[in-house]
Amino acid sequence: MDDGKEEIILNLGCAYPNSLHEKDGSVLFLIKGEREKKLVVIGDGSAVFQELKGGKGSHQGLVVKICDLSVANSHVIRKHFPYTRPVSLRKFDATIGVGDRLGVASPGHIKVIRDCNVGPILAQQSIRELALTGRTFEGVLSDAVWAVFQEGYRSGFGADGDHLKSMDEVKLALDTGYTMITLDCSEHINDIEGFSDDAVERLYMEMNKGTRDRLESRFLSEEFELESGFTLTFSQDALRENAVIYQKAIDFAINVFDTMIKPCNQDIDFEMSIDETSTPTDPLAHFFVALQLSEAGVDLYSVAPRFCGEFQKGIDYIGNLQQFREELQAHQRIASHFDYKLSVHSGSDKFSVFPIIGEETKGHVHVKTAGTNWLEAIRVIIHRDPGLYRELHTFALEHLTEARRYYHVTLDTGGIPDVLELRDDELEDLMSQNDARQLMHITYGVILQAKDGSGDCRFRDRIYRCLYENEALYYEFLARHIGNHLKALGLQGSTS
Ligand SMILES: [Zn+2]
Repeated sequence: MDDGKEEIILNLGCAYPNSLHEKDGSVLFLIKGEREKKLVVIGDGSAVFQELKGGKGSHQGLVVKICDLSVANSHVIRKHFPYTRPVSLRKFDATIGVGDRLGVASPGHIKVIRDCNVGPILAQQSIRELALTGRTFEGVLSDAVWAVFQEGYRSGFGADGDHLKSMDEVKLALDTGYTMITLDCSEHINDIEGFSDDAVERLYMEMNKGTRDRLESRFLSEEFELESGFTLTFSQDALRENAVIYQKAIDFAINVFDTMIKPCNQDIDFEMSIDETSTPTDPLAHFFVALQLSEAGVDLYSVAPRFCGEFQKGIDYIGNLQQFREELQAHQRIASHFDYKLSVHSGSDKFSVFPIIGEETKGHVHVKTAGTNWLEAIRVIIHRDPGLYRELHTFALEHLTEARRYYHVTLDTGGIPDVLELRDDELEDLMSQNDARQLMHITYGVILQAKDGSGDCRFRDRIYRCLYENEALYYEFLARHIGNHLKALGLQGSTS
């Protein structure tokens, strides 16, 4: 670097050393302004300087532009710095979804993931989460792009349109540049729990005869060998039941793949999720789905079955570990046979099953965390603004019924100590207590959307401000939190 640029960088204070980039004679880096980060570009000779929108000035004879970290500017960054574009993560054995609820957590995630051979999905929000946080697919992806630029992270990251339920939602995510599509097929899965055999038979006979004939000749005529010594066979009853439960979901997934994913001129990591059902996915059902998708030419990245036990948000696994291991083995055989990854949803804090998942999948797995970077944000608030925490906590208790509409949790508020009677230094213990964790975790939407008497956000700005002022602490908490996950999964320290 020459001609005084270095001096300007020193003058402005480059708070993010990894954000320093050079392109065609211009120098770019991020600074930490009083209220928000800005992108500084020095030297107007490059296309990137011309294309970025911002205020122009001069400093010691050099032209300088100060730009917002906007969606539009993130497109310019993506154009000129290819590694800031999301990509398919197929080159990684293990991938982890670390959906960044507030859009300020990704640098903390990158700090720990960059030392592991794990592909991160930095942008991962469902439509429900976008609605609850008041964000958009564009904004979520743009925030991830800026985080990658800030950290100079060049190993590749993905963007997951999570739990998409319709063609329109898939289209929106693809048009915005998302590289992973998690198709939530739950609305096409028939819940037949409690149905009599006759009722199932009746539903089966209502299905198209051509479909029934095809399924019967495909599934009833042979024994399926997944690997030596492990076979699956379908009885007439099992076939009927699986057809009634899953056939519509299978047809939907094939249709979405053929009409939306296949025509894309780029690699898309396509996941079929059948996890949001009341009953666990039987391995035979998993195979029933997988074989049809495979024979229809659907190129699957991953499948999310509903595992036995409970994967509630923000707390450890609830259920029988031996049973979990045995069922996981069966699901893994199917995933290996068809060459895709198992996907584990609501994977935050499932420390008792992580070693089992790591072992049985041999690190060939996709784990989605449940957005508990929000709880780490709460931890920062506890440390730095305990008064704000008490307000949030009290508000969360008052609005729990609303939040429960979106999330199934077993939390019992009777088990949460009175926050007004706890000393400041006792508050953090709440983050180790399941009921309090779930209380704060599922109420992020009502907290972020809360308005005061004049229609302004009641908490949102104060939350962001606290995190901005204590950014280093937030990153430290996030790196520790995700680091613990990777360690338990056996994925840490495996940079190759
Ligand atoms: Zn899920």
